[in-house]
Amino acid sequence: MVRVKMTSPSVSLSYSAVAYALRYRAPFSPPPPPPLAFTPHLHLHRHQKLRPPTVSTASFVLVSSFFRLPSPNLFTGNSLFSAMERFWSGSTLNGNKGMIDQLTRYGVIKSEKVAEVMQNIDRALFVPEGTPPYIDSPMSIGYNATISAPHMHAMCLELLEDRLQPGMHALDVGSGTGYLTACFALMVGPQGRAVGVEHIPELAAWSIKNVEKSAAAPLLKEGSLSLHVGDGRKGWPEHAPYDAIHVGAAAGDIPQELIDQLKPGGRMVIPVGTFFQDLKVVDKNLDGSVSVRSETSVRYVPLTSREAQLKGS
Ligand code: SAH
Repeated sequence: MVRVKMTSPSVSLSYSAVAYALRYRAPFSPPPPPPLAFTPHLHLHRHQKLRPPTVSTASFVLVSSFFRLPSPNLFTGNSLFSAMERFWSGSTLNGNKGMIDQLTRYGVIKSEKVAEVMQNIDRALFVPEGTPPYIDSPMSIGYNATISAPHMHAMCLELLEDRLQPGMHALDVGSGTGYLTACFALMVGPQGRAVGVEHIPELAAWSIKNVEKSAAAPLLKEGSLSLHVGDGRKGWPEHAPYDAIHVGAAAGDIPQELIDQLKPGGRMVIPVGTFFQDLKVVDKNLDGSVSVRSETSVRYVPLTSREAQLKGS
C-alpha cells in the first residue's frame, strides 16, 4: 500500500450545491405539483414499494428544489439535476437509525443484513466535520468528489448483498470516504476481503482515519479490509477475483480490467455514462459470459484520471 500523509480534506460545506452520486428523475419530465400534499410516488422507481412515511415532511426539500435558480455550471448539478431524488430532508431525523428507518420505509433497504451493516457503520464518521451526515443527499468531500447519498449506498449494498457473504472478496473502486468499503468489510467478515482503491492520496489517508473510528476498525487492523491509493480503473489484481465490485464514479465504458477481475458468478455495480448515466448491474455468468442491465438513472462524479478530476474537467 502506498503510504500517504494524513491530512483532512479541504471541503466546501455547501451541500445544496452538490449533486453527485444519487439518482435523478428524468430531467425533461414535467415538474411535480406544488408541495401541497405528500407525494411519495414522485420519487420512487417502479420496483419500489410505496410505503408512505408516518411523518409527512419528506418530499418538501425535493419539491422546493425545483424553484432554485439554475447554476451557470450544469455540472454542479443545480440546474438540470435540480429534480434529483432525495427521500427526506433530515430535519426530523433521529440520527443514523432514523436514516435507516427512512430508507427501509421507502423500500430502498429491504434486507435485514443491509439495515444491520448500515446501522453498525455510522455515516457521521465518514463526512467532513460540520456536514449533516444523515440527509439523503451527496455531500462534498473536497477534491471534486462527494460521499454518495445514503439511498445510493443502500441500493448498491442491496444489489451486491448476495456477493457479500462471509468469506467473499469485494472491491470498492473510488472508495472516497471509505464508507462502503467499511460496510463491505463487515459483511464479508474476517475470512473475506474488502479492498478500497482511491486515486486521491489525501482522501485515501482520510478514509483510513474514518474507518479507524468505525466498527470496521478491527478488520482494518488485522488486514481483511485495506484501502489503497491507485487508479481504480485497473482494479486491484492482488486480491482478485472478486465476488462483488462496486464502482463509485461514472465510467464512459465498463473497464475491461474490472470485468476480468470479476469472479464467475460475481457481480459488479457501476455507473456508466457521461452526462446521462445509468447504474449498470454486470453479472459474470458461470461460463464466463457477461450480462449487463440498467438498474436506474444516476448522477456520479466521473471515473477519470487524478489530473482531470483535480482540474474539474
Ligand atoms: N463511494 C465513495 C466516493 C464516491 S465519489 C463514497 O461514497 O464515499 C467517487 C470517488 O471516486 C472519488 O473519491 C474520486 O476521487 C474517485 N475516483 C475517480 N476516478 C478514480 C480512479 N480512476 N481511480 C480511483 N478512484 C477514482
